[in-house]
Amino acid sequence: MSATTVGITFKVTPSGARVPASERQRILSNPGFGKVFSEHMAVATWSRGRGWHDAEVRQYGQIAFDPGTSVLHYAQAVFEGLKAYRQEDGTVAVFRPEANAARFQRSARRLALPELPAAAFVEAIDLVVGLDSDWVPSDPEHSLYLRPFMYASEVNLTVHPSDEVTFVLIASPSGSYFPTGVKPVTVWLSEDFSRAAPGGTGEAKTGGNYAGSLLAQAQAAEQGCDQVVWLDAIEHRWVEEMGGMNLFFVFGSGSKARLVTPELTGTLLPGITRDSLLTLGRDLGYEVVEGRVSVDQWRAGCADGSLTEVFACGTAAVITPVGAAKSAAGWWAIGDGKPGVVTMRLRQALVDIQRGAAPDVHRWMHAVPAR
Ligand SMILES: *Cc1c(COP(=O)(O)O)cnc(C)c1O
Repeated sequence: MSATTVGITFKVTPSGARVPASERQRILSNPGFGKVFSEHMAVATWSRGRGWHDAEVRQYGQIAFDPGTSVLHYAQAVFEGLKAYRQEDGTVAVFRPEANAARFQRSARRLALPELPAAAFVEAIDLVVGLDSDWVPSDPEHSLYLRPFMYASEVNLTVHPSDEVTFVLIASPSGSYFPTGVKPVTVWLSEDFSRAAPGGTGEAKTGGNYAGSLLAQAQAAEQGCDQVVWLDAIEHRWVEEMGGMNLFFVFGSGSKARLVTPELTGTLLPGITRDSLLTLGRDLGYEVVEGRVSVDQWRAGCADGSLTEVFACGTAAVITPVGAAKSAAGWWAIGDGKPGVVTMRLRQALVDIQRGAAPDVHRWMHAVPAR
């Protein structure tokens, strides 16, 4: 069996030893996040001069690393995150994979990695999810999280763009981000650390951005907060992101509500959930703006009641309400600290599309062919 896409042919070798259905059901009943994986993965190699080759879909399993492998030293790597959802009619569909494919290419370019053709990115998803469709949970709060990634696999300690690169796609059944219902998070506004600076890699989905964030996240936890909020690196004044999610601010309420999300300055990760909510917000009749929000505005807006809701958005949790914020200057609540009306309305609108429970007017859902 093989599947061809623009010159890249994935050789498909289904696993001979499938996990028994009872064991799979046990795992799917409480998958958690990122700890269990489905039975197949896609792998492809790129070599300078030769391009992409040895593309295959095979049984999920270990990858051996020579200790001199470049990525282990210099972190030349990028990744993506997207989800396959069980549709109400029983089929499986992936949310906006072409958008992730395009972002994967942009991230690769920034990290001096080769660009994987978008058709190959989507084909790898179709093949792995097609073979492992039984691993897409039917619980409406669960999904199959897809993790495409690419890394410098050349064995060489000189610092240079790798002459060999490996692409891998793995899939991980994931449970509800909020097993006990949507619960607002508290955030710590980090003034000691920056996630990204102008000219840096903040716009690329690369692990190094996360490595540099861990100490700030630990500091947030020490402050009794769930998540860290990143401010701009120069003035520590403009709000950028929350952990690995984008932020939205809701001014006013009801049909008059105005949504503001920090504009993409080059130091923010352009989230696909963010982009989708810009569209859905307009569909629902709200005024939607990409602009700047300062820490002072955030705090003053909460004090005078003009800023009514704040939420974060990303593939993993879809939408997370933010209930309170804390900085070195003090602590303040957002609204009544409960999930806001606009927040939950947007969340429902997006989840309904992802589940196939609402019309997909923007053609965001990609049906995975059954295998
Ligand atoms: C992935 C990511 C996001 C969210 O992007 P989505 O495409 O919506 O999942 C936001 N910020 C950072 C830093 C990220 O890595």
